[in-house]
Amino acid sequence: MVGEEPEWVCYNTWGAHLPECPDGFDLSIGADAFKEVLKTYGGPTALSDWEQLAAALRPLTKGVMGLPSAAVRNDPGVLLTLGLKYPLPLLRVLRDATKITAPFDLDKLGVKDSFLKNYLDLLAFLLQGLPADQTLTAVVAYMVEDFYRPNAVMEYPKGGSGSLAKALSRAIEKNGGTVHTRAPVASVLVEEGRATGVTLESKSSKKASPSSSNNSNNHDGAVIANSNSGRIVRARKGVVSNADLYGTFKLVPPGLEGCSAFDAERAQLLGGAVDSNEEESVPLCKSFMHLHLAIKEDAYPGLREMIAPNAAGAGTRAEATREKNVNSPPSSSDSVAVRPLPPQWTVVDSWEGSIDAPGKVVVVSMPTLLDASMAPTGYHIIHAYAAGNEPFDVWEQFDTKQPKNEAGVSSNSDGGGDGNDASYRQNPAYEALKKERAEPLWRAIERRLPLIRQPGVCSVVQIGTPLTHKRFLRRYRGNYGPAIAAGNSAGLQFPGVETPLPGYYRCGDSTTSGIGVPAVASSGAQCANALLTVWEQLEMNAKIKM
Ligand SMILES: Cc1cc2nc3c(=O)[nH]c(=O)nc-3n(C[C@H](O)[C@H](O)[C@H](O)COP(=O)(O)OP(=O)(O)OC[C@H]3O[C@@H](n4cnc5c(N)ncnc54)[C@H](O)[C@@H]3O)c2cc1C
Repeated sequence: MVGEEPEWVCYNTWGAHLPECPDGFDLSIGADAFKEVLKTYGGPTALSDWEQLAAALRPLTKGVMGLPSAAVRNDPGVLLTLGLKYPLPLLRVLRDATKITAPFDLDKLGVKDSFLKNYLDLLAFLLQGLPADQTLTAVVAYMVEDFYRPNAVMEYPKGGSGSLAKALSRAIEKNGGTVHTRAPVASVLVEEGRATGVTLESKSSKKASPSSSNNSNNHDGAVIANSNSGRIVRARKGVVSNADLYGTFKLVPPGLEGCSAFDAERAQLLGGAVDSNEEESVPLCKSFMHLHLAIKEDAYPGLREMIAPNAAGAGTRAEATREKNVNSPPSSSDSVAVRPLPPQWTVVDSWEGSIDAPGKVVVVSMPTLLDASMAPTGYHIIHAYAAGNEPFDVWEQFDTKQPKNEAGVSSNSDGGGDGNDASYRQNPAYEALKKERAEPLWRAIERRLPLIRQPGVCSVVQIGTPLTHKRFLRRYRGNYGPAIAAGNSAGLQFPGVETPLPGYYRCGDSTTSGIGVPAVASSGAQCANALLTVWEQLEMNAKIKM
């Protein structure tokens, strides 16, 4: 769409270690492979339940999938951008609106089999951080439709997720824009009740040459000026924040003249909870535990044999779609004892308790199986993470607050990162807690690499906590996005891309249900549309061939 993208490595297999099959199976994506899983591990009604569910949900996706998110806008202009161009899908969506916006109700849809119920709960949680019954039916329907997509594969950006950012950055620059990194925003500049730019943290202003002029024009026309409190970047059209929900509010100090509507929305969404996760604020998904390892191929007995078959199943789309099946672990009578490692595997020890219980769902990735350039020759990297299930409360005791800046905003901004202050890392109690709470991650890796903790195998071991997550990603309490349940009784909704402060816009996972790059990208497109007139958007949509 933007004329730039990373190089993709396609693959189609991931491993699953579930309570019904602790030794795990390797599953190719696609409906046929999933039906095999249901036959093997589900109860007597698992397959028929699935077929009935797919038959009920698939028609709902026809409308949703026929409407490109880049055509959506939040004003009556949508009649032109969507209505004229995509009348049939739009009519379908309007007809099915109550069904697709309802919470996904497995019982109502006739799903009785407990394996299938738990599996769908797991998928919903992996995709959006909430159990299935709190997820929009549209999101689950989309997920089910994905099972039936012909030649579907998973894609890994060669070079890691940074190459996604690099591709976006290339697209911005080739269209005359400028990208500044390591330039934290201290606050949004508000003049006469309108967001007119941003003030960068003063640290970066030190880098500006003292003899340079006070004002300069950027490539994209934004005016950059130096002030005592930090560099100011003036907006031509508007200021867009993809910081998390708290970060976006925190950048505008409360009580500014002309900002009462913005403050009212702040109070409605955050309640009094500007500095803590009080109950009246929008509920947030929990944070993460991470375990990063580097292993030397020679140091792990048999690793070379386990990864060799992988090369055949990943690469181009054609290579990745060549074989579709389910592989169970080799039995003791099998002559081939070597079990190929999948690039990714998910581990759930027990279905007991809620799906977001600490350490319950762990995902392990071994990106070097897809892209050897991710580590020096002869080495592999492993990242195990517990997504959206690690409570921040456990770690709060080590959180170090930073002094407030001139705008009265804590420069760690509890959603705007905590700068470089990570003195808690020297605390032995923090180290001990890290080790304790990383246990489920180690165990998840051991499902496929039982010798991983043997001395000499790992040359790097790094454990990340919610504090790491908060510090690196500048997210309030290291959160994984708002946990706004579909059909919640409080009537909470995701905030729109336009804020009540004129000129201030937002996008990203605080504005969209469905965590992850696709949902976030579609919120970005909708935010861009909010900055364009209908005619400009139509022109842009034609340019990106929609
Ligand atoms: C371990 C892990 C694995 C994941 N796997 C997948 C996956 O396989 N597929 C998928 O689709 N999704 C995945 N996700 C989710 C996906 O990464 C997120 O949903 C997505 O990155 C959210 O994008 P965002 O732009 O809304 O927020 P973010 O990615 O959090 O970006 C916000 C940016 O704003 C910056 N920022 C905040 N405050 C300021 C400030 N004051 N000044 C300047 N900059 C600021 C932050 O530094 C950050 O770079 C994964 C997430 C994690 C953590």
